[in-house]
Amino acid sequence: MLRPRTLIVAVALALAACAPASPKKSATAPAAAPANPFFSASTLPFEAPPFDKIKDGDFQPAIEEGMKQQLVAIGKIADNPEPPTFDNTVVAMERSGELLARVSKVFFAITQSNTNDTLQKVQREEAPKQAEHRDAIYLNAKLFARVKAVYDGRDKAGLDAESKRLVERYYSNFVRSGAQLAAADQAQLREINKELSSLSSTFRTKLLAATKAAALEFDNADALAGMNEADLAAAAEAAKERKRDGKWLLTLQNTTQQPAQDSLKVRTTRAKLFEASVDRAERGDDNDTRTTITRIAELRAIRARLFGFKNYAQYSLEDQMAKTPARAIKLMTDMVPASLAKARSEAREMEKIARADGVKYKPWDLDFYIPGSQDDGGALRPWDWQYYAEQVRKQKYKIDGDEIGQYFLLDRVLQDGVFFAANKLYGITFKERHDIPVYQPDVRVFEVFDQDGSSLALFYADYFKRDNKAGGAWMSTFVDQSTLLGTKPVVYNVGNFTKPAPGKPALISRDDVITMFHEFGHALHGMFSSVKYPLLTGTSVPRDFVEFPSQFNEHWADEPSVFANYAKHYQTGEPMPEALVERIKAAGTYGQGFATTEYLGAALLDMAWHTLPESMTRRNDVGAFERSALKKYHIDYALVPPRYRTSYFAHIWSTGYAASYYAYLWTAVLRDDAFYWFKEHGGMTRENGQRFRDMVLSRGNSEELDAVYRAFRGHDPSVEPLLIERGLKAAPAAKK
Ligand SMILES: [Zn+2]
Repeated sequence: MLRPRTLIVAVALALAACAPASPKKSATAPAAAPANPFFSASTLPFEAPPFDKIKDGDFQPAIEEGMKQQLVAIGKIADNPEPPTFDNTVVAMERSGELLARVSKVFFAITQSNTNDTLQKVQREEAPKQAEHRDAIYLNAKLFARVKAVYDGRDKAGLDAESKRLVERYYSNFVRSGAQLAAADQAQLREINKELSSLSSTFRTKLLAATKAAALEFDNADALAGMNEADLAAAAEAAKERKRDGKWLLTLQNTTQQPAQDSLKVRTTRAKLFEASVDRAERGDDNDTRTTITRIAELRAIRARLFGFKNYAQYSLEDQMAKTPARAIKLMTDMVPASLAKARSEAREMEKIARADGVKYKPWDLDFYIPGSQDDGGALRPWDWQYYAEQVRKQKYKIDGDEIGQYFLLDRVLQDGVFFAANKLYGITFKERHDIPVYQPDVRVFEVFDQDGSSLALFYADYFKRDNKAGGAWMSTFVDQSTLLGTKPVVYNVGNFTKPAPGKPALISRDDVITMFHEFGHALHGMFSSVKYPLLTGTSVPRDFVEFPSQFNEHWADEPSVFANYAKHYQTGEPMPEALVERIKAAGTYGQGFATTEYLGAALLDMAWHTLPESMTRRNDVGAFERSALKKYHIDYALVPPRYRTSYFAHIWSTGYAASYYAYLWTAVLRDDAFYWFKEHGGMTRENGQRFRDMVLSRGNSEELDAVYRAFRGHDPSVEPLLIERGLKAAPAAKK
């Protein structure tokens, strides 16, 4: 098995900001604005968004009209003189808000991946109104009384299992949204929700601007010595796009460590790039996020207190698989010693090469986390890590990222890797469609067919980095699967891969390959959904389950038959030479110490912020708090800073992973444990794939998820497979 060099951490976003609704078939266009393309269901296949007709000015009126229409529908349900029933209350709610869902899903997608000043302004204006709208539904006392009546009578109502689950989820959503709070607390909650929603929109805007502004420009290429020709051309192109012809620009990825660090020979360039990354959002200018995030933390703590919880993490995890912060924290802290030990052993290997290179410790002017943190006293600094890790790969394992990259042509990875694996496991096939409108010319659309030739879904892929795109990679939907509404899934994947210079092939890194498999795992979860109700569809599952199908899908990138099918030289089409494949295998888990440690740093930082009591959230020492939190969990290793620092940790401040970043590790346990089920049952076969599809991928949130997992695996998840896969524990000797 090949193994990913870094843990891939990506965002899967369910549409959280709007009402519990989804598109449905018919719609009536209000006379006020007949030309707005959102006011009627799309006539395109799968009700795909008509991007050729949608203009920036269409969003705001459609969102406002959508909220209005939904409130009318909700009012009718709440005021219905008939006694409450499952159909006239819960199902009726599932059918409400079609216009709002239709426009919100597209708006969310575009503001994340192709935004502009106009859209950001709409976002700032609408965010608090959308929060208010949601509260108008979930804090509607009459409506809650009806939902509660249906909930209380659910065992005697003759409901099927999925319908009963739907009632329980609605009831829980109402309670967790404050339906049972006293009136004064509800009033406070409404204000908090409005402000939180504005703040998270502010955070997004600031971070995008900060990341853009922190890009490093170079007058000549000498400072970039070591970068390959394609990356240099991409850097020149990035400068050109900002009208800085003749310069070179290194734009930032969302993570602390930057991909370019692998190859940069000039140490001062590495230090500059590192510094640009770690203080991008702490420069004391308009893009500084620190006051925004401490206020978010404070409001979340107050919100938790209103619900009777000690802190936000407790409130949040009650509704997750982990149930309590203590369980999530224990999973992580148990792994800290082995993870740090492995990172240190990786550092020792690098030290040898670095010293031979003449690298010496220099007291760089950086104040973050280095003072007082665990420092081995060697020559290396954090900005040296990527570069010397790459040198170890080259010298000890004879692995060269550029050499390997020649075998990863984006389109081939997609079609002969990602799609190929899905075909082997699940029987589905793909056909590119050029007749479906897209929101940006780089976006591609594929129709997905089931084994019997029937049409299953649409899949959009938007892989290249842009200045107006948020960092990272994610999946979401334009249309959700629901048999109640008769809708089929329209899903998309977004990435931030370096766009090649014009005329150059799109060669991607091994990390990017894994990211593609990861995001496509989310896409499969959305496309295979086979449920009745929109609330329970596809990826609408707890955070600490949603990253399971995606991470599980990463395994197939390294399946020998799949790897051989996509890893072919971009010029000759020759498969990767056996000797190189063997060298990659020999490198094994090298790099997992770093990847696990930087992840644990970020995930424990998330927990540190969200286990704070209200009284301790209002603070102006973000950096100092960060250092003390890392120290508290013994993950303050100077050479491996957290994957995200507090000030640019978008997952926890704006994209729904607050107190949930641990979910990647939680689900990585499921990922490896489920993969071992495949290993124990004949590996990558169509039968095994179908079983996984039927028992896990198609179920959405229609059943209790630990039960879903147990039914598939035959027992509760075990952490052993993960420890073995990451080289944190030796594999047991093979049984004879
Ligand atoms: Zn993901």
